Amino acid sequence: MLEIPTKMKALRVHKAPSKHYTLDILPVPQISDEKVLLKIGCAGLCHTDLMVLEGSFGDNLPLIGSHEPAGTIVDLDQSVGRKYSLRKGDRVAALLPKDVCGNCSDCKFGDWKHCANSKYGGITTDGYFAEYALVEAKHCVIIPDEMGFEQAAPLTCAGVTIYTAIKKANLKPGEIIAISGLGALGTLGVQMAKAQGLKVVGIDTRPGPLELVRSFKLKPDVIIDGGKSSSEDAMKEIIKLRPEGYEGWDGVDATILTADPPSSHSYALSLTRRHGHVILVAQPPELSFNFKNFIFQDLTLSGSLHGNEVDLKETVKLVYKHGIASEIQTFSIDDHEKMVDATYHEGRKGKIVLSFE
Ligand SMILES: [Zn+2]
Ligand SMILES: [Zn+2]
Repeated sequence: MLEIPTKMKALRVHKAPSKHYTLDILPVPQISDEKVLLKIGCAGLCHTDLMVLEGSFGDNLPLIGSHEPAGTIVDLDQSVGRKYSLRKGDRVAALLPKDVCGNCSDCKFGDWKHCANSKYGGITTDGYFAEYALVEAKHCVIIPDEMGFEQAAPLTCAGVTIYTAIKKANLKPGEIIAISGLGALGTLGVQMAKAQGLKVVGIDTRPGPLELVRSFKLKPDVIIDGGKSSSEDAMKEIIKLRPEGYEGWDGVDATILTADPPSSHSYALSLTRRHGHVILVAQPPELSFNFKNFIFQDLTLSGSLHGNEVDLKETVKLVYKHGIASEIQTFSIDDHEKMVDATYHEGRKGKIVLSFE
């Protein structure tokens, strides 16, 4: 095991709004409580990071960006290691919450992922765009040796979020799920849903993502360009997915909304069958729906927040078993400005990841 240095490179947001991160030299953090020290292999850049740069999350600055870490455990308390079956040298992916309180109603009776008192790495406290970072031992999931850190990092946010949303839809193999928005979440989601035996409808209006999902081994059964196909034409394609003799309502059984534009929501709702389930993971500032979708169509709308360590474990397992991959573009820390600029490129597809390897 290499010796741990005292200083490290890190990307911080000093003030918001900022266009880019500032590259700082900071002390390597020390383990405390049940936190372990990771040597970061890769950390993902997510839409939420851009919101932190824009100043959407208040005044917790300066803070280190990114909430999607994957790396190697290089320091941990022995008793913590025993408690969570972790050792130095373990390659892990980890979830973003830190200092979950353990006392609120969600921690006690619900799911700690809803703990209102927890901090979030990269959002309200230091994150993972750094050579070293602390993560909670209980939020670490060991990844297979063959899984690269660049593939593991996006699973801790995009991957586990879409996996949990699909799980919430609670469909049986053969039932139909639509995923509206084929960005980082949607592209992983269509592959995960196919791997679970669902019929999948992928919807987007951008040529890049539509072309990308077409190239997948686990590609959607129906790919819809929402900018070109009327909802009536799209519905005709969806109806063909039902088995011979199907008796029931036209449309998909559940829909996951991953894109922000309101037009994408009304389009996807119109393709959802009566009494169907709509799950929101997109984060538009406001939602606007037609009441008819909910009163006459009797749709149920649920929100879905990332996932817990069980969900992350299942995500890693499913992705590994089925060879599901994210399209990745990696950048080094010295190219961090280029990395942020790349998120705004027209025709971008897949996921941007900072790599320390
Ligand atoms: Zn994220
Ligand atoms: Zn709590």
